[in-house]
Amino acid sequence: MRHIAIVGSGPAGYYTAEAAQKQWGDNVRVDIFDSQPVPFGLIRTGVAPDHQAIKGVSRRYEATARLGNVRFVGNVMLGRDVSVPELQELYDAVILATGAPHDRKLDLRGDDLANVFGSAAFVGWYNGHPQFAGLDPKLSHDTAVVIGNGNVALDVARILAKSEEEFAESDIVAHALASLRGSAVRRIVILGRRGPHQVAMTPKELSELAKLTRAHPEVDPADLPDVAEDAALETGLRKSMAHLRAFAAGQARPGTDAVTVEFDFFGAPRAILGDTRVEAVEVERTRLENGKAAGTGETYRIPAGLVVACIGYQTSPIPDVPFDEQGGRFANVEGRIAPGLYCVGWARRGPTGTIGTNRPDGFAIVEKIAADMQDGSGKPGRPGFDALAEERGIEVVRFTDWQKIEEAEIANARQGAPREKFVAVEQMIEASHRV
Ligand SMILES: Cc1cc2nc3c(=O)[nH]c(=O)nc-3n(C[C@H](O)[C@H](O)[C@H](O)COP(=O)(O)OP(=O)(O)OC[C@H]3O[C@@H](n4cnc5c(N)ncnc54)[C@H](O)[C@@H]3O)c2cc1C
Repeated sequence: MRHIAIVGSGPAGYYTAEAAQKQWGDNVRVDIFDSQPVPFGLIRTGVAPDHQAIKGVSRRYEATARLGNVRFVGNVMLGRDVSVPELQELYDAVILATGAPHDRKLDLRGDDLANVFGSAAFVGWYNGHPQFAGLDPKLSHDTAVVIGNGNVALDVARILAKSEEEFAESDIVAHALASLRGSAVRRIVILGRRGPHQVAMTPKELSELAKLTRAHPEVDPADLPDVAEDAALETGLRKSMAHLRAFAAGQARPGTDAVTVEFDFFGAPRAILGDTRVEAVEVERTRLENGKAAGTGETYRIPAGLVVACIGYQTSPIPDVPFDEQGGRFANVEGRIAPGLYCVGWARRGPTGTIGTNRPDGFAIVEKIAADMQDGSGKPGRPGFDALAEERGIEVVRFTDWQKIEEAEIANARQGAPREKFVAVEQMIEASHRV
């Protein structure tokens, strides 16, 4: 028998559990820990609330979760409730699938002003992550600046741009919907240091900006490279360029013009200005030099009352685990950290790739564990952890408890919405006690 602890119940955690089940069948016991009482990581708290089809991937993880030899162990935080050496005493292999939940810092003068947020916090707020549910961003100014040129920036801009009716079938949490209902934001500037050929935005996400009922995207035609240069791009980026060109040509105006989403290319933020709260972003015009943004010395200001920086994430360091500061992830060689200790998903690679990218990652790490661990070592596994949890008075949330939480969330949904999420750990635990 092999006893495996996976820490993190996001896509990487569940794909790894699926792979372990395929590798060892009945000869493995997998415990999937999570600091939250609810599973699925960024599927619940990252993926946009109006992307329900994408969130549907969690049904696949449920199939794995229901297997008798895979167990969800929620409400247990590695580094707070249990340590890495303790898990290593109990399990043959410990796999860190803790993702990359922290914002990369903007590191600009004024980045600590009120109403300047990183995307982990802002996205966590509208998705009901307990850590960020109380964020309370002020949407009282007509302009918001979203820094970054990836899909997360598009998610944030789209959420700010949508009308209340457009959230009807989403699971955006009630506090965010109420705040957006009263929002004064009418101009959303997506600020990118480089140009259209350097975006990390996918065609599908861009196409959604052309379908909003009260907002339309704007691109300055002068920012577009010569159309002949698109031919050398890889297919996805070429399709994204087609959308940006359509935006520049004014072909994406299906609804009213109440809100604009402006792409401000070749602009590097240099400072956030304001007294106690953000009042403007100072930007330096750039040009491309060898693919990099070089400042031109020309500056301008965007008056704004909200800034959301969507510039990437990093893993949280955990005691006893070597950390790669530069990469913002655990120090590892192809997922191996130390004997018996592994990492997978965003905790291994850093914050890149789609949900699906984590599947081959999960299968690859299980192959490595299979090569490293010839036979079970007789470690205690589940009963050992259960004894420790009882001794420490940890209230563990099981998958069946999560199902009760989910049932209550579905029952609480406003009309047309799939669920109304609990946004506080205590509410989740309370719902898990219901019969
Ligand atoms: C805003 C946003 C939107 C996205 N939208 C899409 C999309 O539309 N389509 C797409 O394909 N991809 C999308 N992605 C990417 C996708 O979410 C990631 O590829 C994927 O979630 C990474 O999986 P993971 O398991 O490595 O990390 P996560 O999903 O982050 O899971 C990590 C888990 O570990 C837990 N954890 C962390 N620390 C501890 C600890 N100390 N102890 C116990 N548990 C811990 C967390 O609670 C979490 O449940 C999006 C990402 C973001 C940030």
